[in-house]
Amino acid sequence: MKVLITGVGGFIGSNLAAAHLSQGHQVIGIDNFSTGNHENLKELQGLTLIEGGVIESLGQVSEDVNIAYHFASPASPEKYMALAMNTMEVNTGGTLSLLQFSKRTGARFVFASTSEIYGDPLVSPQTEDYWGNVNPIGPRSVYDEAKRFGETLVAHFQREENVNAGIFRIFNTYGPNMDPFDGRVVSTFIRQALKGEPFTVFGDGSQTRSFCYIDDLVRGIMAMGQSNHPGPINLGNPRENTLLELAKMVTDIVGGSGEIKFLDLPQDDPKKRNPDISKARSILGWEPTVSLEEGIQKTATWMAKNLSA
Ligand code: NAD
Ligand code: UDP
Repeated sequence: MKVLITGVGGFIGSNLAAAHLSQGHQVIGIDNFSTGNHENLKELQGLTLIEGGVIESLGQVSEDVNIAYHFASPASPEKYMALAMNTMEVNTGGTLSLLQFSKRTGARFVFASTSEIYGDPLVSPQTEDYWGNVNPIGPRSVYDEAKRFGETLVAHFQREENVNAGIFRIFNTYGPNMDPFDGRVVSTFIRQALKGEPFTVFGDGSQTRSFCYIDDLVRGIMAMGQSNHPGPINLGNPRENTLLELAKMVTDIVGGSGEIKFLDLPQDDPKKRNPDISKARSILGWEPTVSLEEGIQKTATWMAKNLSA
């Protein structure tokens, strides 16, 4: 099989490329390295890399691709707000270009959507038929609304253009190749513990997230790519923890002082996040298997090596 991965130099894209290459597939990757890192690709023998923006680079991709995975987009709130124009463009114009590519070539198209489309949810756990609670003009909207419109484009091409496309919604995922400085909570807490610095907790730390280890997520993405299901399908770990629980767990596993520095809660920061994964279980036969404790340990081992290098 030949697959195209946009955002291949990033955290999830590089892990997805590694999994495909290890199974003998051909991988073409596109990345402009706005948040990605060449280091993530250094062990990927056989990868064909096109360096540049998605829209500008798509003309260089051979048309015999079987699956096109669209992962290019900053993912951490800090980065997507700093790179707002790119975030809006790549999730809307970039998604449109890839859908047109798929219509022309017959490739299966898979769109990396996000739990952010649920905003600050009024129901929990979140099922795929929940429409969400998103502030359309708040600081997070450059990401949330761009992803929501990306889903709209996919649904249109499914309905009207007969394109074999699928949407899945990723909940907070962590693991090796994640930028230790991109501001997401798991990588930040592990880095702070390794350096003996206090944890920066935004708000009172009672907000919850559900954290999925990268190897679990990659299995789910590949199952979605190889199915013909339109989605949307949630992919995430249904175990829900407060940030204070996460901080305690990181201290127990990684060490550090365990000290907490409380900072202001950013605007529109969701209070709860917990995926209902019944659809992923029944349609894809998928569920996570790596515990948060094991995942923190593996990520800390990778990060310790990476930070000292
Ligand atoms: P990341 O920032 O590590 O990777 C994104 C990659 O896309 C980077 O390598 C970046 O350089 C590249 N990129 C950005 N804009 C581009 C453009 N215009 N053209 C070409 N390349 C571009 O982020 P990630 O965590 O790997 O996330 C990947 C995808 O998964 C994103 O679409 C994100 O929205 C989605 N997602 C991630 C999570 C998570 O927890 N990590 C959760 C929900 C959704
Ligand atoms: N957060 C925090 N300290 C940090 C980074 C993040 O308390 O140093 C909080 C953030 O406000 C949010 C949660 O951790 O409530 C998860 O943030 P993340 O950026 O990982 O992703 P989100 O799920 O919000 O997209």
